[in-house]
Amino acid sequence: MASEQTTYGPVTEQVLRLFAKSGDSQYGGEAVSQLEHALQAAQLAEMSDASSSLIAAALLHDVGHLMHGLHDDAPEHGVDDLHEELAARWLSTRFGPSVVEPVRLHVAAKRYLCAVESEYMDSLSAPSRLSLQLQGGPMSDAEIGEFRGNLHYEAAIRLRRWDDMAKTRGLVTPPIEHFASHVERATRNRSMESDR
Ligand code: FE
Repeated sequence: MASEQTTYGPVTEQVLRLFAKSGDSQYGGEAVSQLEHALQAAQLAEMSDASSSLIAAALLHDVGHLMHGLHDDAPEHGVDDLHEELAARWLSTRFGPSVVEPVRLHVAAKRYLCAVESEYMDSLSAPSRLSLQLQGGPMSDAEIGEFRGNLHYEAAIRLRRWDDMAKTRGLVTPPIEHFASHVERATRNRSMESDR
């Protein structure tokens, strides 16, 4: 794997270490590892001309899975692992809202899409449909209104769609080092964003 001779800030280095340490674990019930899933999501974001912050969000949307002690098949045991909250907490000390909020809302975006797009729920993978029930099922009208009130809800929906697609076994993606520059830029954007 070609590694670029670039020095990154402490947050980017931490991200690279986290995936090096835990990225090989399976992405709950799916055919890809956590690292493959993250890279596929980031690649889809990049191909969609997303901002560096949203590419970083795509790469990091499941860091909660890399950190918590639950097994990857937690939904099969009736447990909602709340990984989006764990990820948002970890990210909020390192990035601004344009990274944190789409990640925090990416499960809500699934509940939203299930409520507003009838085809969407049918398109979900079996593990994703199983976890939907634990996450509260499709949103109510009141929840839909509240969700749309968040400044970052459209970014969360984009992230959600990449998340859903990022499950292709054996797909070739750039290595994580390719996305490090986006992570680095996203950490620098933090100082330009107001807190929430
Ligand atoms: Fe995911």
